[in-house]
Amino acid sequence: MVYDYLVIGQGLGGSALAYQLTQAGQKVLVIDNQYANSASRVAAGLFNPITGNEMKKTWWADRLFPYLLAFYQEVEQTVGQQFLFQLPIYKPFESIEQQNHCLAESIEGIYQNYLNPQTATQRYDTTVFQPFGGVEILRAGYVDTQVYLESLKEWLVAQNAYWEEDFNENLLTITPDTVVYKEIKAKNIVFCRGRGDANSIFWSWLPFKHAKGDILQVTFTDGKYENIINKGCWIIPRKDGTYRVGSNYDWTDLTDVPSEKAHKEITDKLNKLTKLSYHIIGQQAGVRPTNTDRRPFIGRHPKYSNLLIFNGLGTKGVSLSPYFANHLVAYLLKQAPLEASVAVERHIRYYS
Ligand SMILES: Cc1cc2nc3c(=O)[nH]c(=O)nc-3n(C[C@H](O)[C@H](O)[C@H](O)COP(=O)(O)OP(=O)(O)OC[C@H]3O[C@@H](n4cnc5c(N)ncnc54)[C@H](O)[C@@H]3O)c2cc1C
Repeated sequence: MVYDYLVIGQGLGGSALAYQLTQAGQKVLVIDNQYANSASRVAAGLFNPITGNEMKKTWWADRLFPYLLAFYQEVEQTVGQQFLFQLPIYKPFESIEQQNHCLAESIEGIYQNYLNPQTATQRYDTTVFQPFGGVEILRAGYVDTQVYLESLKEWLVAQNAYWEEDFNENLLTITPDTVVYKEIKAKNIVFCRGRGDANSIFWSWLPFKHAKGDILQVTFTDGKYENIINKGCWIIPRKDGTYRVGSNYDWTDLTDVPSEKAHKEITDKLNKLTKLSYHIIGQQAGVRPTNTDRRPFIGRHPKYSNLLIFNGLGTKGVSLSPYFANHLVAYLLKQAPLEASVAVERHIRYYS
């Protein structure tokens, strides 16, 4: 059998792509090595339309956020598992000026439908430090990436569309019509290996600039949070009563070994945010496939047109992967143009 697409990597990128290609009637085989500390398996899974201390609306929020909700809800129905949790993010203000600006803009301005102007800030008084009050960010929440990836894997396995294998690109034979890998033949291959593609003989020319991050798992002993809290660090309540707290950025140590330095950085931030006592019960680390211009890498290899990449999801794989997997599918199957800001051609000067 000749597959239409080999998808290499079943992180957030490869999963969204394989799902959408399959739903569009393509014969797909996903190859993944189940690396336990991949960014997608470690990720907190947050989607947050208003980010940073400056509270900026995130890039393309108006397109990405409606799309991601519809996408994850559809996959939940398909695989019969819940992994999408829509929860407001409570954001304590940095200053009185920020408070005035946000509340004014939340009714009819730039934050309309994204901030809750009726937020009952006093509800958070006993659990967070908030000298200037705060506001709830709407259209936010998290995806339990472990459950999402595992249930999608089972769905692929049930269709004979999954192969657990440590893919070795040196064994790939490429002709204009097909790619052959061991006993597998396909018309096209899409690389979705996250940080792994930075060392690829085909893709290392792209300007990856990875960022390690750690996450703590904690329990609170004298209170609880029902919503996500975010200032300096985020606190995410999980279904099992534990919380995930993070994160930090490290551009020099690119191992995925949890570090003391990150532990201290995150707990320092947590101590400034929470009024509750906590125990740390775990720590994980992973490396985000970030890059210099913070936009996805999508498109064909300059020399081999049946080799493609879907990568560069950076710090926002949860919100970027559904929309841009759909964008890539439209490009492949309907000849729709690729958006210039995500097409790999923007970096063609690095290819030699
Ligand atoms: C600490 C931390 C916190 C984060 N928090 C968030 C968050 O809250 N919200 C958010 O949106 N994003 C978050 N991210 C970023 C998010 O994890 C990434 O954007 C996303 O996971 C990238 O997905 P990917 O599929 O491109 O890459 P990856 O997750 O790296 O997936 C690559 C896949 O390819 C497989 N693979 C690699 N090499 C091979 C090979 N040779 N053969 C076979 N398979 C292979 C791996 O096993 C893996 O399954 C976080 C990341 C980290 C590290």
